[in-house]
Amino acid sequence: MSQLQDRIAQFRKMANDDPENELGHYRLGQLLAEAGEHEQAVQSFRRTLELSPHFSKVYHLLAQALLRLDRRDEAIQVLREGFRVADERGDRMPRDEMGRMLTELGETPPQGAKLSVGVSTSGAAGEGGFRCQRPGCMWGARARQLPKPPMSDEIGQRIQETVCADCWNEWLKNYSIKVINELRLDLSTDHGQAEYDRYMREFLGLD
Ligand SMILES: [Zn+2]
Repeated sequence: MSQLQDRIAQFRKMANDDPENELGHYRLGQLLAEAGEHEQAVQSFRRTLELSPHFSKVYHLLAQALLRLDRRDEAIQVLREGFRVADERGDRMPRDEMGRMLTELGETPPQGAKLSVGVSTSGAAGEGGFRCQRPGCMWGARARQLPKPPMSDEIGQRIQETVCADCWNEWLKNYSIKVINELRLDLSTDHGQAEYDRYMREFLGLD
């Protein structure tokens, strides 16, 4: 099996063993798209959105897969929905990418209520003005900042500045363990540690 097929098998197992795990379906969808399996990628992305309808980047990936399958009308519908979600959340990059795709398809992007140029004031701010920047954060106006950085290095600092306490706990108590278990990461090796960091950054939206 090629390396890509190996990883697809790993994530397919993760998605089957733990069907409520949005991360598993999301990564599986990305890998399937990479392998040109767009039909199956569509299913994985749809499942991700059932579990996490605020995960704005996934609408973008889903629409891309649909376009590869010549399902244009469906793609446009997904882009409109995704644009709205991204705009509401203040996820500017996915929103602008989906707006661009709609324009390329000859559609007029919906008017984002918060489609401002320059410094964005978008996104619901939580108590004390904290806004979580993790794609898929469900906490919106209830987002709370971590009282201190979870690690003492530069990345810990960044996590405290950009990720809410609930998202961090979700990673720490839930997904990090799944990632380690399912992928059998050996954190005592450089490779294991690098993989772990990669999943953490992806989960937290730090890249
Ligand atoms: Zn959050």
